[in-house]
Amino acid sequence: MDKFALQAGAYRFFWNSIDWLFPPECIGCGKEGLLICSDCWHGMVRANLDSCIYCGAKLPQRGVCGRCEHLQHAIHELRYLAAYQGVMRTAIHRLKYERDLGIALELADMLAQIVQATNWQIDLIMPVPLSEKRKAQRGYNQAALLAYPLSLQLHLPENTKGLVRVHETRSQVNLNFQERQENVQGAFCADPAIVKDKTILLVDDVFTTGATINAAAAALREAGSKRVYALTVAKALGRQVAIENAPAIDV
Ligand SMILES: [Zn+2]
Ligand SMILES: [Zn+2]
Repeated sequence: MDKFALQAGAYRFFWNSIDWLFPPECIGCGKEGLLICSDCWHGMVRANLDSCIYCGAKLPQRGVCGRCEHLQHAIHELRYLAAYQGVMRTAIHRLKYERDLGIALELADMLAQIVQATNWQIDLIMPVPLSEKRKAQRGYNQAALLAYPLSLQLHLPENTKGLVRVHETRSQVNLNFQERQENVQGAFCADPAIVKDKTILLVDDVFTTGATINAAAAALREAGSKRVYALTVAKALGRQVAIENAPAIDV
């Protein structure tokens, strides 16, 4: 048994024991048994592969949407699990504001299935980092809560040191697309000793306009990364992005 299988087994055993001692209730409907019951999973608006490879916008087939055609992309491809609404929204809130590790494990399982269905040859999994200040305020990085169990599932190393947020950015909430891009430009710095010639899987909770994940990917590419894939749990819907005054995205 390799190191990952052993760690993954121990991690899972721990969580199964917790579930046995304290049976969870579904965060969507309250039914006892699972944190997210199968009905609630099926009720989510799941990502469709007939979409833009860079932003997830709906297309007749997998390709590049009209808006992304004219933009520079540091990521090679984006995949996500489901739309940021309903039960998924509740799940993200539990992850982000309540440090719910059980939810992180459930979501990481689903993310692992997405990656396993691709032909991505990943060397390293990295969570999108928070600034030290933000991390100190929240006490943890929600993307790292996902990246760790995901790395165990995929038997791939995780690294949280090779990519850092070097200057404080304003909260992205209420910023439009242009402002978001300017807000995060140059906000990340990557260590060539860790990322050079590596294919990286960047993990985050929500993809909104892609400004943050592309800025992080740009830093990785500058430090010599071969390729950067982006994986998020949720994607903001077109109207949620539109609410933030970004150019309309058809999803
Ligand atoms: Zn449910
Ligand atoms: Zn697009």
